[in-house]
Amino acid sequence: RIQGGGGVAYYDSNHAQQLQRARLIEREMQIAVKGGIDQFHLAYQPQVYTRDRSPAGAEALLRWMHPEMGLISPGEFVDVAEATGLIVQLGRWVLNRACQDARAWPEEVTVAVNVSPTQLLRGGVVDDVRAALASSGLLPHRLELEITESNFLTVTNELLSQLEELKALGVSLALDDFGTGYSSLGYIANFPVDKIKVDQTFMRGLPQSVRDQSVIFAAQVLGEGLGIEVLCEGVETEEQYQLVRSIGCHKMQGYLFGEPMTAVDILQWFADRRASALKDAG
Ligand code: C2E
Ligand code: MG
Ligand code: MG
Ligand code: MG
Repeated sequence: RIQGGGGVAYYDSNHAQQLQRARLIEREMQIAVKGGIDQFHLAYQPQVYTRDRSPAGAEALLRWMHPEMGLISPGEFVDVAEATGLIVQLGRWVLNRACQDARAWPEEVTVAVNVSPTQLLRGGVVDDVRAALASSGLLPHRLELEITESNFLTVTNELLSQLEELKALGVSLALDDFGTGYSSLGYIANFPVDKIKVDQTFMRGLPQSVRDQSVIFAAQVLGEGLGIEVLCEGVETEEQYQLVRSIGCHKMQGYLFGEPMTAVDILQWFADRRASALKDAG
C-alpha cells in the first residue's frame, strides 16, 4: 500500500513525486483519522516570560507517527488535512487532548492550540472549544488559540464573528507567524487578538540583521500600541534572547528554552523551572 503502485512514469519528475507523496499522505490520513486517531500525538513546547525565563505555558504541536512511513511533520500533513477537511476531526481531537493534558499543569500556565482556517470557517470550532473546556474542566483563560496570519487574507464578517464568539467563551487569541502573511496593519488593529507571535524567520538573522531587528521592533511597537502581548518564536541562542529582551517583547519560545516534548516531559519541565525560579527568588 505504501509503495503506491501505478505511477511509473512519474519518477523522472520531482514535482510528480511530490504530488504522489501528497496523495499517499491524503490516503493514509483518511485511514488514520477514520480509524481513531491513535497514530497521532501532541508534543508540547515551552513558552517563557522574557524577564526571568519562567514558564508561561506551552504550545501543543501535532505529531503523526505512521506505522510504516515513520514520523510525518505537520509541515507535510496539515495542508492536506486542511484541504480534505480532515482537520476538523483532527483539530477537535487536538483541542480535547490539549485541554485534558493542561489540567495537570500548574494553574498559572496556559496551553496554546493551533486552529486552522477550515476549523474557523466551516468546522464549528466554537462548539468544539466549548465542549473541550466543559469535558476537561480547564478554565477558559488558560486556553489560547493560535491563528496563522495568512488566514486573514480573506477577512470576512463571518470570520470576525467567529473570533468574537471565541473571545466570548473567555479563551484568548494569538496571531501566529506574524510578518509572513499579507494582511495589512490596519486589519490587524481591528482583530480581537490578545497576542502577536512574531515568526521565527525574523530570529534567524539575529543578532546581526538590522532588517530582522526592525521587524521585531515594529511588532513590539504595534503590540504596545494595541495593548497586546508580543511573543517571539524560534529563539535558539543566548544572543537572540538578549536582543529580543532589549527590544522589550514579553514572551519567547524556541529551542533555547525547550524543544517540543512529550506530555510527561513538559510536566517535569514545569516542575523543574518552578523549583529553580523559587530558588532564584529566595
Ligand atoms: P507554528 O504554530 O508556528 O509552530 C512553531 C513551529 O516552529 C513548530 O514546528 C516548532 O517545532 C518549530 N520551532 C519551535 N522553536 C523553534 C526553534 O527555536 N527553531 C526552529 N528552527 N524551529 C522551532 P512544527 O511542530 O513542525 O509545526 C509546524 C506548523 O504546523 C506549526 O507552526 C503550525 O502552523 C502547524 N501545526 C502544528 N500542530 C498543529 C495543529 O494541531 N493544528 C493545526 N491546524 N496546525 C498545526
Ligand atoms: Mg503556532
Ligand atoms: Mg508560528
Ligand atoms: Mg507556522
